[in-house]
Amino acid sequence: MMKAYYESFGCQMNAFDTEVIESMMTASGFETVQSAEMADVIIVNTCSVRENAEQRAIGRLNDLSRNKAVLVVCGCMAQRMGDSLFDKVSGLSLIVGPDNYLELVSAVISIIEGGEKNVITGQDGKAAYRLGSTGSEKGGRVSRFLSITRGCENFCSYCIVPYLRGAVRSRDIAQILREVKILTAAGTEEITLLGQNVMAYNRDGVDFAGLIRHILENSDIRRLRFLTTHPRDVNTQIFQIMKEDPRLCPHIHLPFQAGSNRILSMMGRGYTREHYLDIISEAREIMPDLAISTDIIVGFPSETDSDFEETLDIIRKCRFDSAFTFKYSPREGTEAYKMDDDVSSELKKERLKRLNSLVQKIRKDILESRIGLIDEILLDARVKKGENLFWKGRTPHFRNVLVSSDDLNQGEILRVSLSGIRNFTYLGEVV
Ligand code: SF4
Repeated sequence: MMKAYYESFGCQMNAFDTEVIESMMTASGFETVQSAEMADVIIVNTCSVRENAEQRAIGRLNDLSRNKAVLVVCGCMAQRMGDSLFDKVSGLSLIVGPDNYLELVSAVISIIEGGEKNVITGQDGKAAYRLGSTGSEKGGRVSRFLSITRGCENFCSYCIVPYLRGAVRSRDIAQILREVKILTAAGTEEITLLGQNVMAYNRDGVDFAGLIRHILENSDIRRLRFLTTHPRDVNTQIFQIMKEDPRLCPHIHLPFQAGSNRILSMMGRGYTREHYLDIISEAREIMPDLAISTDIIVGFPSETDSDFEETLDIIRKCRFDSAFTFKYSPREGTEAYKMDDDVSSELKKERLKRLNSLVQKIRKDILESRIGLIDEILLDARVKKGENLFWKGRTPHFRNVLVSSDDLNQGEILRVSLSGIRNFTYLGEVV
């Protein structure tokens, strides 16, 4: 049996794609191994969201090329750089874009049988993949990703994704439900539905809210989540469903990126700060304790002090549970790349520092406000903190909790009292 080893860089969508690729390879007789040294084939899924993500992947690929294995690169960097990667990575055999994974296995086999090195990066804007068995489901992970859409057509001016992942396509609702049932039967308790913009889901007249209702009505999944949402496409019915059925977890990741309407329009985000604030207030009217996380970029071209103050103002008004924060970095191939990157790196650094300290202060306040309350956690892993071994679990609001009891099992859903905080993680006691 040929042995295959996988590595995945970047977002959850890439993590899901790597599982799909592994399931296709496994179905063709390749055995998954946990180290590159043991592998006959090494497959690395890559990210292109920022330049340093590509540099890291190229560095890692050159490390891996020292192994006597067929080396394959796929994902967004493969799509963006194509055959130029043969000059950057010695011993590279195959380059496959995100729309071409159905051709990957046969291309690997052709190279194993002595075929030429190859590049497959044509975009058809139709490709959508089924999650097959990787053989690793048994006793599998309690929390899994499941893609429902692929691609993005929002063309935010700073983002390279639409050029690399192509047009939006929504997967077949029956196939999605089938995969939810396969995963649930294999012991998965929590599924996160994935897409660059899940609320753009629309297939055979069924929109995102319709898909969620369909899954909840026709499966025993204990927890359902979704990632990521674009504010322009928010369907507030989703908050009503959260209220009616607590299996749909009360957390939404809703990137706002910047607080000034002038910068939002330069970013091509398609909404205003007022629109974003309206969504948040409507959502909190329906779900008062909704947990919201977000993404924020500082230092976008021409961002002034007052633009930045408007970003801080949104954070104070929305009180996010957490935020992924970034300094703007120009990305070749995007509209914003043509703009003058005129905010100095010192100023970007200083603004990021102020932003992070405000985000963390609010995050701490939110966490502290719930000390002493009882919450429910899904146990997903054992973790070591110093000399101590804990079980780590997550609340429906996507907050991490550590419990020190031993006689517990992965996948259990427990009631705990939130007794303390360690960094941004709760300490909990089983009740
Ligand atoms: S919504 Fe915007 S930022 Fe997100 S993937 Fe699409 S283009 Fe990129």
